[in-house]
Amino acid sequence: MFISIQNVCFSYPNTDRSALDQFSMNIEKGEVISILGRSGSGKSTILRLLAGLEKPTQGTMTIQNEVIFDGKTFLQPEKRGIGMVFQDYALFPHMTVGENILFGLFQMKKAEKKKRLAEVLELVELQDYEKRYPHQLSGGQQQRVAIARAIAPNPHLILLDEPFSNLDAELQVKIRKDLREILKKANITSIFVTHDENDAHALADRIVKLKDGCIDMIGRPCDLLGIH
Ligand code: ADP
Ligand code: ADP
Repeated sequence: MFISIQNVCFSYPNTDRSALDQFSMNIEKGEVISILGRSGSGKSTILRLLAGLEKPTQGTMTIQNEVIFDGKTFLQPEKRGIGMVFQDYALFPHMTVGENILFGLFQMKKAEKKKRLAEVLELVELQDYEKRYPHQLSGGQQQRVAIARAIAPNPHLILLDEPFSNLDAELQVKIRKDLREILKKANITSIFVTHDENDAHALADRIVKLKDGCIDMIGRPCDLLGIH
């Protein structure tokens, strides 16, 4: 099992209900998982717990058999090999596309960095944009830079929070397809959060539907079609 999440529970301080209750799932290498649910159902909380921004109150999480949390162990966020793509992309405006992507590669040697930058630029089809600044790019292109930056260090897993919410409807359809192709080509394991059923169905290998912090349904898009 590539990623294992078992019986994870979490409540925010000073709240009387749990944001996540007994959440369990296993994820295979290269799988694209969508977490679907209404606002407040616990989607962001899962990402925050995996990324190490919050500590579960109980449960176990492992990546490639390494324990990242189990009550005794709390692996620091930077050691988890998890990349994040934020809702607003969080690109550095004063840095070029190339510099933004290189930012995550500070531990690599210079020659290695150059090679990796070329690889990820090709993957997201932005070879000619290395010297541009974020404000010179479209929303979809900015999103691809954010994805390139997240996957450049070869993380075990990338987390995407509402990756389409800042794009107009027409662009969303194209970008969904592009994003799935990028993730599959690079065999990147990913979890993305959305409140949009169409996004989840178009992109995911498996969908986890959350309701009030619990798993309501889990399955392949074809298995969940028509079930609401
Ligand atoms: P979603 O991402 O699906 O909108 P969240 O994971 O953000 O849901 O929230 C799950 C539950 O936890 C909700 O009831 C929400 O109000 C609550 N919650 C989220 N963040 C905080 C916080 N910082 N403090 C207290 N409660 C929070
Ligand atoms: P998202 O679009 O990611 O679901 P939310 O509106 O749920 O965003 O949350 C935005 C921010 O507000 C997050 O940092 C979350 O932790 C915080 N938050 C959400 N619900 C609460 C709450 N009930 N009390 C305090 N902070 C909250």
